[in-house]
Formats: sequence, structure tokens, C-alpha cells
Amino acid sequence: MQLYKSQPLKVYNSLNGQKEVFESISEGYVGMYVCGPTVYSNVHLGNCRTFMSFDMIFRYLKHLGYKVRYVRNITDAGHLENDADEGEDKIAKKARLERIEPMEVVQRYTVDFHTILQKFNFLPPSIEPTATGHIIEQIEIIKDIIEKGFAYEINGSVYFNVPKFNDSHNYGKLSGRKLEDMISNTRELTAQDEKKSPQDFALWKKAEPQHIMRWPSPWGDGFPGWHLECTAMSTKYLGKTFDIHGGGMDLKFPHHECEIAQAEASNGTSPVKYWMHANMLTMNGKKMAKSTGNNILPEEIFTGENNILSKAFSPTVVRFFMMQAHYTSILDLSNDALLASEKGYTKLMDAINAIEALNTSNTSTFDVSAWRQKCYDAMNDDFNSPTLIAHLFEAVKQINALKEGKASITESDKTLLQETLNAFVFDVLGLENKNTSATDSDKLPDVVSLLIQLRKEARDNKDFATSDKIRDQLAALGIQLKDGKDGTTFSVS
Ligand code: AMP
Ligand code: ZN
Repeated sequence: MQLYKSQPLKVYNSLNGQKEVFESISEGYVGMYVCGPTVYSNVHLGNCRTFMSFDMIFRYLKHLGYKVRYVRNITDAGHLENDADEGEDKIAKKARLERIEPMEVVQRYTVDFHTILQKFNFLPPSIEPTATGHIIEQIEIIKDIIEKGFAYEINGSVYFNVPKFNDSHNYGKLSGRKLEDMISNTRELTAQDEKKSPQDFALWKKAEPQHIMRWPSPWGDGFPGWHLECTAMSTKYLGKTFDIHGGGMDLKFPHHECEIAQAEASNGTSPVKYWMHANMLTMNGKKMAKSTGNNILPEEIFTGENNILSKAFSPTVVRFFMMQAHYTSILDLSNDALLASEKGYTKLMDAINAIEALNTSNTSTFDVSAWRQKCYDAMNDDFNSPTLIAHLFEAVKQINALKEGKASITESDKTLLQETLNAFVFDVLGLENKNTSATDSDKLPDVVSLLIQLRKEARDNKDFATSDKIRDQLAALGIQLKDGKDGTTFSVS
């Protein structure tokens, strides 16, 4: 029996603000779409947090036995500098500034994105489609929306008619906004504006002669609006209605609201059963963002090269830090918080590494099955990773008591404890059992020098058994000692 049948999951649905029992549209299968990065710059740690939240969600759904098709796109065209369909395409701008091809920009930052995610031990999505690879699909959707009367063409651009759509549908249902309020809060249209209403958004933009990222269409050369790619790619790979759509909270409006409008206008159905939004990573209490300069790159954390940091932190410690907050809560990055996470992570790994050697007996003083269910209950409660981690530390306490002979455990409970810890720590949270501190290897010469000193003292005392043991055991670890005129040196193989 698949685990999801015995472990009922609840998810917070942003569409209605309720925690709902998760029931996938097709039993045993989950379709999940997450808005991916716009590849015009290096991903910052804030971006990574959102993707990591969904990596953990993907991992848990898989752990429960669902067959998950996880689609996370790459935005390589159409994302303008400004949400109001104005400004340059972010990728084209970078290409212009650097005097390179837009696809060179895309390639460089897609590689960076994948490299960073790999360091964080992400699972790759099932499909990673690009906007430029789906221009034909986007054009087809625009034609359909025009035909259904919810979009209009003007001067080679096509806009979605929001007031018209709102007459028969509900524009604003995800973000809780009302069209009337939006209208009264926006400036009047000027003579240069092409849109009929300021709320209308671009499905297709005419390319001015200098715009290099352009494709032919029934309305002339141009490029797709940003919101459209996600409608095209999610419905192409997951169907007209699919289970989960995710992204950062900042995408709720206008991006996701527009996705709903496009899909409803074109397909006549609501595209998503559960909308899920991950909360922001902040630094100094302010949202981490590329545009404001208030951000930190993952590489700066891995090397310690940023003046908010006292040292380097490994990717798995940063991942543990992220998992200590619920994905819907704001999380603030600081050196102290990372130091505390490193300590906690080390304690957890030390306990996991100690299980194998624990002695077993006829009785257990710790109810492992009940503890295991508490771990599931935490994750079943809208992927509550901080509560899960609190339960993992209950196990750490028990393992330490067992080590000290203050508790007992049966062989089968020990196996269950080990399996459960491995499942939650490595499979679900995606942590890795690693030497955490980037500076640990720097300590090796000091540690070996200490052992060389102890070996010398043993030899001076004619305790050759100890001195040989030190030499042989270091050799077994790949560290060779070499005695010379000026003392003993070592080499690592
Ligand atoms: P972008 O590349 O700008 O399209 O953003 C990629 C993803 O990162 C989106 O889902 C954003 O919501 C998310 N994001 C951007 N800034 C932050 C932040 N400070 N914390 C968490 N997620 C963020
Ligand atoms: Zn999107």
C-alpha cells in the first residue's frame, strides 16, 4: 500500500486561505508546476529559498508514493523590467549591456542556476521547459483568447481585456483584490497608452526595430507577455486542470492572477486545484531582491566572502537553516542564525552517525513507532518542516541517552529509528551527511601534527605499540608519515 493512503496530507491553498485535505485529481499522480527563474543574473539566496521549499514538497510527495510530474520552467524571454508591461526585456537588456547574444545570457545564468541547485542537493524537475521553446503554443493560446472575446489586438500588440473578463469571471480571486479598487488606485491612461484599461495586460508585444528577441506571429513580429508562458507550459505538460501551482508570494499578483485569467478565458476551466506560495527570505528585515541590492549569492555563503558572515557555511547547513522555517513564514538571514543552524546540523548528524554502534536490548524505553507517526503528522500538516525538525531532535536526545547507557532499544526499533531518520533527514529534507565546515579540512595539518607529537612521546617512552598504532591507523586513512632527519612529515594520498 502506498504511504499516501495511510498518511493524509493537508495543504494550505492560497486560493481560499484554507488548509485542505490534499486529493490529487488522478489517484496516485500529482502534477506540479513551479515558476522558475528569469535567467538574466545569478540566482540569489532568496530565489533559492522558494525553489528549495518546492524541492522539499516534491520530495515529500514522492516519499508518500505519488508519481509526481514536476514542471519548473526557465523564463528566457518576455519578462519585462516592469510589471506594467513596460521597460526592456530583462534578458535583452543584459545582452545589450554586455554586448553578447541574449541566448548567451540565458545559457550563462541557466548553468549558474543548475550548478547552485546541485550544490544544494536539489532533485531535478521532471520537465524544465523554456519560454522560447513554446512560442507556437503561446501564439495558439492568444488566438483562442481573441476568438473567445477576451483579448484585442492594437498596433501589432495583443492585450487581455481584464474588465471584460471580470464581467463573467472573477479577476482578483487569488490575490483578494477587487477590480473596482484596482481601477480607482491606478493612474488614468494617457494618449500614448494602447491599452483600453490600465488593468489589461500584454499577451503579445510588438517588437520595435531595435528589439532583438522577436518572433513572427499573426500580429507581426513580436514577443510573448511574461504571464503567458506559464499558462502555455503548465497546461501543455500537466493538462487543463492540474494539482499544484507554486511560486514565491510576490508572484501572486499580477503573475498568477493573470495566469488564472488566461487559462479560464481560453479553456473555460480553473487551471489549478491547489495554489501554494512560499514566503520570502529577508536580510536585515528587508526582502532579498536583485533590484535593491539587498541580496547575497549562495557562492558568497559557501566561501564566507561577504562581510555579514564570520565564516563560510556549507550548502547543506544553509539548506538546514531554510528547513528550520515553515515555507509560508518569512525567514531572516543572519550570521548568528547560520551559526546556530550549523550547530544543530552537526548535532543531528553526530546522532545519526552514532546509531549503527548502539547496543540493543529486549526492551525499548522510547516509543519509536509513535515518534515516527509524529514526524509524519508534522509533514502532513502542510509540510511543517520546523515541527518535523523538533521531532528529529527528540530522537537525537534519545540516541544520546542510549549512547550513555541511560536508555534501551530493541533491534527492530533501532532499525525503524534509523530508517525513519534517513527517510526524513536525507530523502525528504534533502540534507547531506557531510563534514559541514568549509574550514574543517584546513585543520588537518594541526590534527596530524598533534598525532605526530603523541607518537614521538610514545616512542620516547618506548611504547612502540602505541606509536605503531598511530602510524598504521593514519596510513589506513590515507595519511603517510615519513620520518626524516628533521622530524616527521606527512603526505595525504
Ligand atoms: P525571478 O527570477 O525574479 O522570476 O524569481 C524566481 C523566484 O524567486 C520567484 O518564485 C520569486 O517569487 C522568488 N523570489 C524572489 N525573491 C525572493 C526572496 N527574497 N525570497 C524568496 N523567494 C524569492
Ligand atoms: Zn510563472
